[in-house]
Amino acid sequence: MTEQTCFRCGARTPPYDIVNAASSDGTYRLLCSGCFNEDMAQWADIVGFEHPQFTPVRLLDADGDSHEFHFRSLLLGDQISLEAFELAGNDESEGYRFQILDESQSDPFVLLGKLVQKMMRALSVKHLHEDASGLQVAGTMVRGRIEWDGVEDGRLPCVVIDGKRVEWNDFGAILMAFEGWQFRLELLDPSDEA
Ligand SMILES: [Zn+2]
Repeated sequence: MTEQTCFRCGARTPPYDIVNAASSDGTYRLLCSGCFNEDMAQWADIVGFEHPQFTPVRLLDADGDSHEFHFRSLLLGDQISLEAFELAGNDESEGYRFQILDESQSDPFVLLGKLVQKMMRALSVKHLHEDASGLQVAGTMVRGRIEWDGVEDGRLPCVVIDGKRVEWNDFGAILMAFEGWQFRLELLDPSDEA
């Protein structure tokens, strides 16, 4: 994981906690979430905003495996976004990721509590299981996240299911167990509950 330098305070910052922010002259600068929020509080006239920082947490999934999550809070005008990132290997497209949005004045610890409950609900369900013939859908419902597959000039997604990256072709092969079935695809904002 490559750390980057905050343009404002010079802090070496992991990529999940840095924002590419537009400035008034139209250029983009990398800011750590603390500096981004300070700017945003000033711009949105929010007096006394304190940048919430949370220590990482470990949560267990349905198989008893442990997942470590790091948090990022971003002030977005009259809303605050709290995100949780699982750092899974070097690939930023992997791992579980969660977001919750609320009013900017809301208590950050209440927000954290809501986000952790959402994370625990998601971690308690596994949508894929692996047997001798490979990955299979465990029931008839799959929840996940769409990511870019990372291939330059490529236009194909990969999907992240149960926090694990599944290539588009492999996802197609998994679905062949349901040849002839119908499906319903609904796209949800990252802060919604899938
Ligand atoms: Zn900074």
